[in-house]
Amino acid sequence: MTATIIDGKAIASDLRARVAAAVRGLADTHGLVPGIAVVLVGEDPASEVYVRTKSRQVIEAGMRSLDHRLPATATEAELLALVARLNADPAVHGILVQLPLPPQIDTTKVIDAVDPAKDVDGFHPLNVGRLAIGLPTLVPCTPQACIMLAKTVRPSLAGLEAVVIGRSNIVGRPLVHLLIAESATVTVAHSKTRDLPALCRRKDVLFAAIGRPELIKDDWIKPGATVIDVVINRVTGTDEKSRIVGDVDFAAARVVAGAITPVPGGVGPMTIACLVLNTLRAACAAKGLPPPAL
Ligand code: NAP
Repeated sequence: MTATIIDGKAIASDLRARVAAAVRGLADTHGLVPGIAVVLVGEDPASEVYVRTKSRQVIEAGMRSLDHRLPATATEAELLALVARLNADPAVHGILVQLPLPPQIDTTKVIDAVDPAKDVDGFHPLNVGRLAIGLPTLVPCTPQACIMLAKTVRPSLAGLEAVVIGRSNIVGRPLVHLLIAESATVTVAHSKTRDLPALCRRKDVLFAAIGRPELIKDDWIKPGATVIDVVINRVTGTDEKSRIVGDVDFAAARVVAGAITPVPGGVGPMTIACLVLNTLRAACAAKGLPPPAL
């Protein structure tokens, strides 16, 4: 068997085009231009790249991107004051504080300070709680992207056996709630899980969010399973060249899986498309409009 490659780049581009069309409609009918404030503290090169890509895609979708830079030496009070200003600004519908933050800043305090209605990352405890009890809310982008990609090949996840490897607040845990909402039967695995390969081999859908390059081999995968690889690991080969790989050994797994996301070009681009979508949703909600039908 050769797996269907789930082309995250193409699927994300299609989603962004649909969001852009909805944004044009909003401007015409309600004079509303969604705006996102992206806050970057310090000069972490990976964060710089993410923030640039996010801003570019937001602008391409017809929205406003209002970037705010603070030095790596910024205090917690300075960042909280900026968040308070953005909370109060009616032109800002979404706030994204790029993580990780420098050590002098308490990340939890900053997440708690963002207005839940503008929390396009879906990290605020109120939104986390709403997701956990199955209420509509702003859903974290990466898990949302994972579900959308899986559903391109398995339109209904109901009744399927799914495993989520990783239990972080930004990926694993919210993904579990989304899968419960899809009526999948979910197992959560982590570093203490016993015999992970055997557990994975029984699952129809596998989500990997670990951060261990190519840990997941072909004999971990049930023939025909859908494999969603969340992670972007940078590794250096024997030729000293660096390359990007996921948690799944893609070349081996694609022979067994029914469908698989590549790394790069899978969950990454779709995550940013979901951020653009969340910004549109937050702007509609702020204006008292129903969520856009895309
Ligand atoms: P994290 O907080 O480091 O969590 C990693 C999880 O993997 C933990 O739950 C850990 O278990 C588990 N784990 C570690 N080693 C394991 C092993 N040998 N077997 C089974 N489970 C193991 O990471 P995260 O924030 O969820 O992110 C995961 C990865 O996704 C990161 O590498 C990150 O760069 C990437 N990511 C990608 C995107 C994207 O857009 N594509 C977005 C966000 C994150 P314990 O809980 O027991 O420690």
